[in-house]
Amino acid sequence: MLNIVLFGPPGAGKGTQSEKLIAKYALVHLSTGDILRAEITAGTALGLEAKKLMDQGILVPDEVVIGMISNKLDANKDTNGFIFDGFPRTVAQATALDTLLASKNSAISMMISLVVADEELKSRLLLRGKDSGRADDANPAIIEKRIEEYNSKTAAVASFYETQNKLKSINGIGSIADIFTQICLTIDSNK
Ligand code: AMP
Repeated sequence: MLNIVLFGPPGAGKGTQSEKLIAKYALVHLSTGDILRAEITAGTALGLEAKKLMDQGILVPDEVVIGMISNKLDANKDTNGFIFDGFPRTVAQATALDTLLASKNSAISMMISLVVADEELKSRLLLRGKDSGRADDANPAIIEKRIEEYNSKTAAVASFYETQNKLKSINGIGSIADIFTQICLTIDSNK
């Protein structure tokens, strides 16, 4: 299986690049942000709880997202592999993901990390907020909080995969097409 963690701060382009990668490599896209937003739309208890945190730019508890990913892995047993987008976001999530995959005789193939400076992220997210309809994109203080959560809790996940020799960093500034080409070259030479 080809299991890719697409990593980077909010606004790095993970969602955009995931869409292109799933088409090219026939992978299942698992975005915890998208799954949580679907729960909110469906009005589930989990969605209502998660919304309170998401609207403030705070991460939802590890056990919530780990449970969601576990269900999705079980529901897609016959896939070529997965793109994990916005997950894992803490070292505890990364450890749990390794355990879940190992129990299915699988593993993460590599982490692709999109590197984008904070100032660029802020302007991209504010722009996206104009039509994404996402409350957490439109407000500068919430954007600031999301970047702070990334720096304090998520950035360490890159070191977790670096220790396993799986970290591949890519410049996330440039045209969508050029960044996609760089990602594909990295995948093809490491899979
Ligand atoms: P995203 O769509 O990836 O930007 O995620 C939007 C929000 O959903 C985040 O700010 C968090 O509140 C929540 N979220 C998404 N994925 C995770 C995760 N893996 N762990 C914790 N919270 C998450």
